[in-house]
Amino acid sequence: MSDYDAVVIGAGNGGLTAALTLAKKGKSVLLLERHNIPGGCATSFIRGRFEFEVALHQLSSLGSPENPGPLRMMLDNLGIMEMLEIVTTDTMYNIVMPGRFDLALPSDRVASQEVLKARFPREKEAIDKYFDLVFELCMQWVNIDVLKDPEASREKYPLFYHYRFKDASSVLDEFFTDPELKLVVGIYWMYLGMPPSRLAFFDLALVFFILLVYDPAHIKGGSQALSNAIIEKYLEHGGTVRFNCGVEKIVISNNKVAGVITDDGSEITCDAVISNASPITTYFDMIDPEYVPPEELRILGTRTIGTSAFTVYIGLDCEPEEVGIRYGANFLCTSTDMEHHFDLMKTMQPPGAALFECYDVVDRDFSPPGACQIAYVAMQYADPWYDIPPQRYADAKYAYAQGMLDLAEKAFPGCRDHIEEIELASPFTHLRYLGHPGGAIYGAEQSPKDCNLMIDPISRIKGLSFVGAWSTTGGFHPTLASGVTVARTIPDLKGVMS
Ligand SMILES: Cc1cc2nc3c(=O)[nH]c(=O)nc-3n(C[C@H](O)[C@H](O)[C@H](O)COP(=O)(O)OP(=O)(O)OC[C@H]3O[C@@H](n4cnc5c(N)ncnc54)[C@H](O)[C@@H]3O)c2cc1C
Repeated sequence: MSDYDAVVIGAGNGGLTAALTLAKKGKSVLLLERHNIPGGCATSFIRGRFEFEVALHQLSSLGSPENPGPLRMMLDNLGIMEMLEIVTTDTMYNIVMPGRFDLALPSDRVASQEVLKARFPREKEAIDKYFDLVFELCMQWVNIDVLKDPEASREKYPLFYHYRFKDASSVLDEFFTDPELKLVVGIYWMYLGMPPSRLAFFDLALVFFILLVYDPAHIKGGSQALSNAIIEKYLEHGGTVRFNCGVEKIVISNNKVAGVITDDGSEITCDAVISNASPITTYFDMIDPEYVPPEELRILGTRTIGTSAFTVYIGLDCEPEEVGIRYGANFLCTSTDMEHHFDLMKTMQPPGAALFECYDVVDRDFSPPGACQIAYVAMQYADPWYDIPPQRYADAKYAYAQGMLDLAEKAFPGCRDHIEEIELASPFTHLRYLGHPGGAIYGAEQSPKDCNLMIDPISRIKGLSFVGAWSTTGGFHPTLASGVTVARTIPDLKGVMS
């Protein structure tokens, strides 16, 4: 008899919902997290009088009680929704190219189209047609779930087949001529970490559609409040959790999971292991090579490690309006060339585009009275950081942050003079805290080659499965959903418990 039915490695979004789903089903579950708090990316930290949000800028797919999105329904089922307080905003995002333009898109289809048509009158018809396409394509996906239709064919779903893997760049070119317009409707490429030329149009359309239909949301208390709520519910259902307790090894016997060995050398037996760590770390560091199926290694060899991020966490000693910040999510861009912005993500040069998220515009209580906080994020790969010797690491971090602050100062003059607290996180910071190769925050690259349709979260080693960004796609909704889906479908656990 094993110590536990299942051990979950890692308390990121995917690990948390997997552990809770299993505990709710009456399984005995041990959740092991190397950090001292739950959440992975979904955490906060304190500097001075600010509690900084690490990762959540815009929560998608939540919707309202009247218009519930898939994430709300899932969190409701888990008993989590009632533990959270949500605030929403009616602005999807503001996009600023200092000295050139500044445009805010409302999170409403008709209002958004009107804003775009007023700014780009020569492309009025194309704007309407583009929105029609986005909505028709995504509604087809939401209502029909093409993948579950055994008779799905190109004839039956022509739109889906035509656009599922078509690149976003060619679709934007097909509809629009003005590069500013392409940038404005294509800016969510940054949430997916792939330039339009390598991004499936469908993925771009889906993010745009979801945030337009369900309004971007924030959680009072930030993403840490969500992670804490899931842990609380998990404990209520009899789950066990250990923090400061990483998993070093997964024990395999007869091509089946037999248990885990923790960093402090304790051996725990179990029938299933769910890993929120990357498959790369899981197969290469945690499992002895003779037990790793060659097919898993072959699949890993086809995948590309995705982007990490460089974040400047800023506490300002003033209200947002004092320095001209009127919207929560602000994409700051130096040009309209999104492909060039992506290329810069692999260098130490200042970014071409970055997200400047001021939480207090949407939630007045987010920071202490009279203050506000900003998470200022540039997508960046870890690659260039490997070339920097340790003694130059701090200087390199400050130099990169200065480049970002120069851009912020152009968009919000005077904001630099109001900085009370500042903290930096490089791709190496994410690598250190998450343990993922390259400090990847969305798992593998989100190109069609590596998209979730190509990934099987159930390993060829019996009893082992994966949750989180590496097993689906990055972002809060997909990773939270992956834990629930995988926990419900683990074949070996069903066998164990039936
Ligand atoms: C700066 C930033 C901004 C972001 N902005 C947004 C946003 O606005 N909207 C959005 O939807 N998404 C955003 N994301 C992405 C989103 O946060 C992530 O994709 C998601 O949270 C990842 O969840 P996950 O389940 O993959 O687990 P992760 O968060 O990757 O956590 C993995 C956990 O596993 C633990 N672990 C790893 N190895 C071991 C081991 N051997 N033993 C024990 N524990 C281990 C780690 O300590 C960690 O806690 C952002 C991320 C970052 C960093």
